[in-house]
Amino acid sequence: MKQRRNASAAVLGSAVMGSAVMGGSQLFLRLYTRLGCQARPPQFVVEFYPYANLMHTIRVKEDVAHVRLSDVLLNAPLVVFEAAAAILLSRIYRRRAPRELLAAYRSYTSAPATRRRIARLRSARGRRVQSGPRGAIYDLAPMFTQLNRRYFAGRLHRPCLGWSSRTWRSQYGCFDPALDQIVMNRWLDRGAVPRYAVEFVLFHEMLHVKHPLRAARCGIEAHSLEFRQEEKRYAHYQQARKFLDKLP
Ligand SMILES: [Zn+2]
Repeated sequence: MKQRRNASAAVLGSAVMGSAVMGGSQLFLRLYTRLGCQARPPQFVVEFYPYANLMHTIRVKEDVAHVRLSDVLLNAPLVVFEAAAAILLSRIYRRRAPRELLAAYRSYTSAPATRRRIARLRSARGRRVQSGPRGAIYDLAPMFTQLNRRYFAGRLHRPCLGWSSRTWRSQYGCFDPALDQIVMNRWLDRGAVPRYAVEFVLFHEMLHVKHPLRAARCGIEAHSLEFRQEEKRYAHYQQARKFLDKLP
């Protein structure tokens, strides 16, 4: 969550994290058939995503399968993409991925050049927060539980929670889907900051956990209109906004 808002930042799609993979949906369709899946295939939306490691995800919602491939694969040979697709599809449709594809994937990922690339990306992209949820004033763990119960029917997955090691100048909090963690600006962990303001920032980051497709990495914000509507469900929305906006 950014400290300063400007009106246009909330516009849908103003910041796009992933970039579409050329021919990605055809490739997934092909593999869907090759794996012997019988049912009508979903529509595949495939994009590269800057995960901090070699991770790919697939999420099927209604008729659309959202696929995120680690951008480590950016220049990988076609067979590696096919393998990644087969691995993801085999997981959700309970099929067996072809052996030759698995072998191709393994040899690509274990190649020294690939390992080096992953190591470089990982060190450039975020680290896991060290502090733990308990701050000097506020403890994020019970706060998360309460917010979860009240606004998410207790169903939201709990990522790692922690405080930034230093005070941040431009952000109140951030959810990093690659590391699966919410980091809150240490600046908020003070008696001078009312509980509702801290809760609101945490609630905002929790909405990013709930809407992973809109989730942005630290520093880049992407909020849909729907997201902004849902944000207003927070009981002390106006007060919290007022408090956070008046800050430098
Ligand atoms: Zn946000």
